[in-house]
Amino acid sequence: MQTFDKFYVGGAWVAPTGNETIDVINGTTEEVMGRIPAGSAEDGAKAVEAARAAFDGWAATSVEERIGYLKKIQEGLVARADDIALAITGEVGMPIKLSKMIQAGNPAFHFGQAVELLESESFEEEIGNSKIVKEPVGVVVCITPWNYPLNQITAKVAPALAAGCTVALKPSEMAPISAFILAEVVEKAGLPAGVFNMVTGYGPVIGEAMVSHADTDMISFTGSTRAGRRISEIAAQSIKRVALELGGKSAAIVLDDADLSKAIKGVVAACYLNSGQTCAAHTRMLVPESKYDEIKVLAAEAAEKWTPGDPMVDGTRLGPLVSEAQWNRVADYIQKGIDEGAELITGGPGKPEGLETGYFVKPTVFGRVAPDATIAQEEIFGPVLAIQTYKDEDDAVAIANNSIYGLSGGVWSADEARALKIAKRIRTGSIDINGGRFNPAAPFGGMKQSGKGREWGKYGLEEFLEIKSIQM
Ligand code: NAD
Repeated sequence: MQTFDKFYVGGAWVAPTGNETIDVINGTTEEVMGRIPAGSAEDGAKAVEAARAAFDGWAATSVEERIGYLKKIQEGLVARADDIALAITGEVGMPIKLSKMIQAGNPAFHFGQAVELLESESFEEEIGNSKIVKEPVGVVVCITPWNYPLNQITAKVAPALAAGCTVALKPSEMAPISAFILAEVVEKAGLPAGVFNMVTGYGPVIGEAMVSHADTDMISFTGSTRAGRRISEIAAQSIKRVALELGGKSAAIVLDDADLSKAIKGVVAACYLNSGQTCAAHTRMLVPESKYDEIKVLAAEAAEKWTPGDPMVDGTRLGPLVSEAQWNRVADYIQKGIDEGAELITGGPGKPEGLETGYFVKPTVFGRVAPDATIAQEEIFGPVLAIQTYKDEDDAVAIANNSIYGLSGGVWSADEARALKIAKRIRTGSIDINGGRFNPAAPFGGMKQSGKGREWGKYGLEEFLEIKSIQM
């Protein structure tokens, strides 16, 4: 049990104004594994004000100075990788080996990436008689979700600090432990007081206070479309810059010439990673009508290989979901799939046998899901794949684009040029061809209601820069 009773604000660990707390639950054991403060609006204001007080000094540091600090944070994260992976496996349920690679590995990568960008990018250019300079946006409030908790945090904090911005972070109250580890690493790196601040609590209380604060220049938010909409409304009152990474309902199109065995396994993996708790998960698989019967068998085989169980045990591929509320939500969607007439190919309602404790869900596949069915339209955030059939390429593209979301997707084909043509017609911020490898240096973000702006790599850095033209 890890108890945290202070916030990191203005370069020191400070007591919250109240004494309300939030329990952090282990999804496998259902036991309390941690406790954090439920901060007040006043706590949020203090974090933003500390970031404001530190801004002028930090914005004036040289690129070399910032590189020095970012490198130290990167090293600190590498040194704490085991603590980070263990905390997140407990909170979120990702199998520990993967957690070490992704949940603990990506955060250090983002800091390394920020260093590389500072070494290579120029913050000035000339256009005619004008000098164009890129300056930090200012005080950035970062609000983040629970599914890849430290990855989402560092995808914002690393480029924001690199750009010369100061940060007030409010991580998810459901998976907050790695944010405390980051604050410890930042403290050890000797970052000037107030450049990075971290408070915890409920979004509508402390989060909204940070978003609406007059000292906040920008909000970088990752989470649900619902919360993103609310944050945008508040930020609009004072025209603050808002970057949003929201939900998704991504489609993988399997073309008739694809290597079916490889494609189906790939799509199931892209759907089930982190027990389906991935914004960019490929939760819809679009297949040619003529191949449906063959694909249905392959999909059941592939899904059943995702053994549910304790994420600390070798061989487990599907850990539990993050919370009871999330389990109930996913169970409701599975029931809705059945009620709306989709074909249940494997999995289904209830917990997997022998896993009565913990928020476990059976790896589930639905077939013949109608284009407008709830499970084809709404984000489920669990290991539930919806197979939809199409008549021809145009039909496949139309079904893929029939969504309020536009985050990610995939195309599978033996002909890369054909796949690329289709990939360009899909209205999403990213798309993989034949399971193209994940690239955290390439821009990531959504079209439509999946968000606004791009994170990661050089495009991620640009989010935190203002552009000024000086005429000479
Ligand atoms: P959530 O929106 O409930 O919470 C996200 C964060 O916002 C939390 O820190 C929460 O406390 C805070 N929050 C909630 N309401 C708020 C408000 N009114 N004002 C200010 N802050 C508020 O989302 P979640 O359940 O933690 O995460 C799951 C969602 O995140 C899914 O929809 C998923 O698709 C999305 N997500 C998107 C990406 C992406 O990059 N596009 C990545 C990961 C997760």
